[in-house]
Amino acid sequence: MTKNKLHALIWCVVTGLAASVQSCVPVNPERDTLTAAVAISLDGSERTLAGNLASLGMLEAGQGLRIDARGDNARRVLLLREDDEREGVGIMVDGALANQPFDTVIGSAGRHFVFVDYDGNTGLFAQTATVSASLVDELPSRSVEQVVRVVFENNFLTDPGLFDPVDGVDADRAFLESIESVVRDEIVSSLRTIFADTPIRIISENEGTDEPLSILTYSPQRVIADQNDVNDAALPPADPSRPECQVRVIFGEVLPTGTEIDPGNRIPDDQAVVYVGSFQGRGASCLSSAVTSVRSIVLTLSQTGAHEIGHLVGLYHVEQIDLMNRSATLAFQRELDFARGQIQIDRLENGEIRSEIFPAIVQDPAVYFESIFSAE
Ligand SMILES: [Zn+2]
Repeated sequence: MTKNKLHALIWCVVTGLAASVQSCVPVNPERDTLTAAVAISLDGSERTLAGNLASLGMLEAGQGLRIDARGDNARRVLLLREDDEREGVGIMVDGALANQPFDTVIGSAGRHFVFVDYDGNTGLFAQTATVSASLVDELPSRSVEQVVRVVFENNFLTDPGLFDPVDGVDADRAFLESIESVVRDEIVSSLRTIFADTPIRIISENEGTDEPLSILTYSPQRVIADQNDVNDAALPPADPSRPECQVRVIFGEVLPTGTEIDPGNRIPDDQAVVYVGSFQGRGASCLSSAVTSVRSIVLTLSQTGAHEIGHLVGLYHVEQIDLMNRSATLAFQRELDFARGQIQIDRLENGEIRSEIFPAIVQDPAVYFESIFSAE
């Protein structure tokens, strides 16, 4: 068994435990390796790309670059820098939506690559794009930080929020009402801790700022996933003896619905939501471990919020047990990190979510933030 296959196997076991809707997709080590990338010259001439990767060659720190990738099925474009430590691995350093040019500044010298991410239902043969790149004299200005305001809708814990619609009694509702302000303060403080060493600044509803800001809203709603919802929808643990509990819900999403990710954090005033009602337990047979204590409520809701903020600044899902893992159920169980991981792209195939891992493409939030934000 090759190392890659072993890795895929471990991943399947882990996600099985986490009870996500992911199908187990083996990693194909032959596809999308950096070495197979088509070379692009930096004179603005167009090259047709069949697949995901194009090579820009060696670039120096401080160089300005304009990248333009277009294609009917092209969705997002990422800029990668080859990892110093692991040959053939590219680390995400910037990104943008496809089909419009974007400017970037090279942060560190090294071989650079363009990765094109295609729409979820695009077959392999339709994964083509026209890519061009050119050096630019005028460097784009990047912001020093991203401000995110955290907003709580009225009765976010009770309407329906975490109130159990089957077994809940008045005393349960009264309890949830009594902890509402504590939970609110603790979520804000937990988000501040999670993002403490990053350029993401969390502010509460009462704090003002002159900067453009993103908004993360905690909504009391319970949202049932549609057949076509891919991102951040999840099933509870598979249990054939309790089919009534196998309801696919959406725990949170970037707005408007379907946006998924803001690659390169190009939109400084975008919004995301956490649907608190989606975490509720329903009767004795469909209990939720999200709501067993104030601590677990805060852990679950703050970590789900942090995950959505991750998408707002351009982070993808990763396969590792991490804040950016797509299984929201992980957030119930323990404190998670923003760590380095191979990116994972979710696709819908015959009504089933399949997560494809790109072994050559690594997301390291620390490296990415350093690259897309300005230091001063
Ligand atoms: Zn997500």
